[in-house]
Amino acid sequence: MRSVTAFATLGPKAPFDKTTIERRDLGPTDVLIKIAFAGICHSDIHTAFGEWGDVIYPLVPGHEIAGVVEEVGTEVTKHALGDRVGVGCMVDSCRQCRNCHAGYEQHCLDGATETYNCIGKDGRPTDGGYSTHIVCDEEFVLRIPDAVNLDVAAPLLCAGITLYSPLRHWGAGPGKKVAIVGLGGLGHLGVKIATAMGAEVTVLSQTLAKEADGLKMGASAYYATTDPSTFETLAGYFDLIVNTVSVPLPLNRYLSLLTLDGALVMVGAPPEPMSLYANSVMTNRRSFAGSNIGGIAETQEMLDFCAEHGIGADIEVIGGQDIDRAWERVLNSDVRYRFVIDTATF
Ligand code: NAP
Ligand code: ZN
Repeated sequence: MRSVTAFATLGPKAPFDKTTIERRDLGPTDVLIKIAFAGICHSDIHTAFGEWGDVIYPLVPGHEIAGVVEEVGTEVTKHALGDRVGVGCMVDSCRQCRNCHAGYEQHCLDGATETYNCIGKDGRPTDGGYSTHIVCDEEFVLRIPDAVNLDVAAPLLCAGITLYSPLRHWGAGPGKKVAIVGLGGLGHLGVKIATAMGAEVTVLSQTLAKEADGLKMGASAYYATTDPSTFETLAGYFDLIVNTVSVPLPLNRYLSLLTLDGALVMVGAPPEPMSLYANSVMTNRRSFAGSNIGGIAETQEMLDFCAEHGIGADIEVIGGQDIDRAWERVLNSDVRYRFVIDTATF
């Protein structure tokens, strides 16, 4: 075991404190990563507040990890000392079930081992990226291309893949009209990635306050969802709507914006249930669907795609002492557009 510095929370809404956690000794296929930056995802907040179920405290969140390889196990072949690497929402899976074989480790039939708030194969709780180091099996470590700086790469490991995967799956590309609902951490990367895929992109945000930013990221239109005329203007318009919002939305209104065979895909994960009329999906043979991060191979594909298209997150870099304030701002939709913790401040 080795002791490393981390920031942990001791209970729902308890402030973060600097602490020490233990990382396991390297197994033959393990990689020790010196974490440079860790993104703050809204999922960190849902989890820590107990909104999604039981929490193992003290909790060290963080599943948008970017850093450099500091040590490798004796049998590691994929990564070498000094490599720029990342870890996302999973650190392991069974690797044997049909979903793992198909590249969908996030849908592992045994349950993927999540980066934090989970029990690892060693029987110990997993701790996330709000820390200086992490140990991870090489198969779950991603290569970060040289063209993307580590700070703007970190959010790609969750927010980036969470948007890339459904955009690919539902065919975002030339001739497709795509709406991204919510211009936060996930949403702003969705705008950039869908634009790079060649789709026509519209942002649906609560207000027009961030319109100039959204257009700069590649959107060709920007509408306020608090303006009722938005839903009249855009009725039946979109092929694909990706909803990144962290609270329940009136689904029937959003479904009404879909054209024939259009899909509304949920990636935002509010803890409360939502309701919809069957008629909202019967009309235009619409689909109501969801998507959860992406597999390891697809995450690498996304990182390479982002490097090729010059895509990184728009970030505000903060220190370990600023985590509480940053969470407050995320909860107030006051994020431009991802907070990234610099572990050099620990
Ligand atoms: P975020 O940065 O807080 O962005 C969420 C955005 O939703 C806000 O910026 C805001 O955009 C909009 N919003 C917030 N409150 C709203 C309200 N009351 N009414 C309408 N819109 C509101 O969060 P995030 O990190 O992008 O995560 C978003 C959600 O995705 C969270 O629920 C998170 O847990 C989930 N998530 C899912 C996956 C997955 O694999 N499916 C992965 C990561 C995260 P505007 O200001 O533009 O309206
Ligand atoms: Zn996340």
